[in-house]
Amino acid sequence: MTTAYWELAVAVSPDATEPVTNFLWELGALGVVEEETPGASPRLRAFFPAHADAAGLETRLRAYGDALGALGLPAPGPPSVGPLADPDWAAAWRDHFRPLPVGRRLVIAPPWDAPTFAGRLTVVIEPGRAFGTGHHGTTAGCLEALEALVDDGVPVHAIDLGTGSGILAVAAACLGVGRVVAVDEDPDAVAAATANAARNGVADRVRCAVGDAGGLDVAPAPLVLANLLSAAHARLAPRYAEYVAPRGALVLGGILDSEAAGVAGELARHGFVPRAARSLDGWTTLQLTRGR
Ligand code: SAH
Repeated sequence: MTTAYWELAVAVSPDATEPVTNFLWELGALGVVEEETPGASPRLRAFFPAHADAAGLETRLRAYGDALGALGLPAPGPPSVGPLADPDWAAAWRDHFRPLPVGRRLVIAPPWDAPTFAGRLTVVIEPGRAFGTGHHGTTAGCLEALEALVDDGVPVHAIDLGTGSGILAVAAACLGVGRVVAVDEDPDAVAAATANAARNGVADRVRCAVGDAGGLDVAPAPLVLANLLSAAHARLAPRYAEYVAPRGALVLGGILDSEAAGVAGELARHGFVPRAARSLDGWTTLQLTRGR
């Protein structure tokens, strides 16, 4: 039997899913999915083309695991590589991404299965290398906060720092925000965000650019979204105070529940007042206002 595709499966600890996922893409994966089972380690499944060197993939992943271990991160479990039982990896990949209702008004859907739900806006996001399919608690938390803020009055302008797939910027535009500036330091993410904005018909309102979240030269916005990590929020807090217009809103994601109080404290030192916090899958999304 000739192998159409290889599947590599590996158990990883939650802290290591992001670096290991990136590494799998770098090894040439056609698709990577993360499967979460309550009470068990997440499992990554990556699909590789037939010409990939299956034994080499396994060796390189083991070496990468050792390197992570040396950095103090939990090393992944032993990888298993085998011919894909389901010969159609695309079907296996697609199966993983079903339309996902988020909050009260949104559905995040892949391009091949984008239904219309009564009373909900469908935001089409192509799952790819860039982070942000809506399935992760950090993204879903930011989308819920965005939706709640828009319910209180649609901001005319927003900034999305670390846009990834562009999901937050595109959702903001779909919810009526007039102009969104979306930046990411990763050019692949910016390409994905640009394509996703076009896919949703909001390319004229979402401007995507490669850039560092700390180095923007923009007019202050009534809404700033940043789904980064706690350490980045602490570092960027003085910049947030410049990016968010007085009485404007700041939505911060990527904060472990145990870090939320510390991040809120750091932001308070820069004039931000916490308004709401939501926790999803161990991740907190903070919603703050600049000034009282
Ligand atoms: N906004 C998306 C993606 C979040 S993942 C969502 O909510 O799902 C975080 C993204 O931020 C990644 O794409 C990463 O490349 C980008 N990023 C991390 N640090 C950054 C920085 N300092 N400047 C710009 N982008 C950054």
